[in-house]
Amino acid sequence: MVVPVARPPIEDGVVCVASGRIAWVGPRAETPATLQHGEELDLGDVILLPGLVNAHCHLDYTGMAGQIAPPKSFTDWIKSMVSLKGSWSLGEFESSWQSGAAMLLRTGTTTVADIEAVPELIPAAWQRTPLRIHSFRELINVRSRVPAAEMVERAVNDWLSLPNTQNRVGLSPHAPYTTSTELLELAARAAHRRKWRLTTHIAESEQEYEMYMYRQGAMFEWLKSQRDVSECGAGSPIQHLERCGYLDENLLAVHVNYLWRHDAGVLGRNEVSVAHCPRSHDYFQHLRFPREELESAGVNICLGTDSLATARKERGFPLELNLFSEMQMFAGKSPNVAPETILRMATMNGAHALGLKGLIGELSEGACADMIVIPGPPSDGDAYDAILQHRGDVLASMIDGHWAIAPRSV
Ligand SMILES: [Zn+2]
Repeated sequence: MVVPVARPPIEDGVVCVASGRIAWVGPRAETPATLQHGEELDLGDVILLPGLVNAHCHLDYTGMAGQIAPPKSFTDWIKSMVSLKGSWSLGEFESSWQSGAAMLLRTGTTTVADIEAVPELIPAAWQRTPLRIHSFRELINVRSRVPAAEMVERAVNDWLSLPNTQNRVGLSPHAPYTTSTELLELAARAAHRRKWRLTTHIAESEQEYEMYMYRQGAMFEWLKSQRDVSECGAGSPIQHLERCGYLDENLLAVHVNYLWRHDAGVLGRNEVSVAHCPRSHDYFQHLRFPREELESAGVNICLGTDSLATARKERGFPLELNLFSEMQMFAGKSPNVAPETILRMATMNGAHALGLKGLIGELSEGACADMIVIPGPPSDGDAYDAILQHRGDVLASMIDGHWAIAPRSV
């Protein structure tokens, strides 16, 4: 069963691959004669679907799994995280990054938007995984003495010195509360100039919302002596970013849990994409994710795993980065959303957010040959339901026309 996502499932389907790209997709009986001369591989009774696009991850925090218990408040979590990060060596971040990439690969992700808090790991880390990694350099300037212009320039120069950066690098000003207006503006300008994407955590917690909206709450109290807070008290985090001219189709906003009533419309008008991370949302016990509001405003919503520092262990399942688990958590909390829509969030919508529409996240002619194989649906079963219920590792994974995990028959 071929599930191209961009069109309905195809029983007894065929995907033709040539030079790393998909040359044709359709029912076996209709395979064009010109494409029948290649090597043929019968995968058996399986579902073949596009590799998943993980729209938000921190691979370098994978080894922090289970080390910070779900906190009472988001600000407490940030404080624990800052101290845990401070105690880690470069080697720990490095092995953490590698084990995270291995988890994503075996659980069906083929492209990941990763936040690089330790940019020294790149490009060596890229070379140790077949995954398509889109590396977003994290930028934080609360408490930093380095001027914003210098920080952005250094980040840009580091990325420019890397080999083959096309569709592989971007910038990630961390969040409004950890960045100055100047840093946001400079990062956006630098990204636009080089056609890089931006991604930022926005309105993740109630405390961030309170800080911007009302100049109060635990986050405001914690940060007021560490940074300029003159921008607070003048509307929501989204309104603040709109004033900075930061919202446009180049931006992938992460979390977006706490919205003022016109915020979804602002994001929709500015064509901002949103990455929702269901397990991280559950870990923090945030209020309801405003999916309906965002969807009505036409916002492109995709799914991400976030890091294992914000995942609860599920009884009977290993704590691992796994986009199937994110789809399952989302489905459990949004029973009225069709499985097909959820799969789109984990494939085509992520591709759109990364500026790679038509190239990844779908099995279509001209797209990169990135696909995964999972066990087939029961004879009377629905392919989308079977995908949503899939647990464990994938049977095979192809990236760019090469088997990253070969099927048993190869
Ligand atoms: Zn994050």
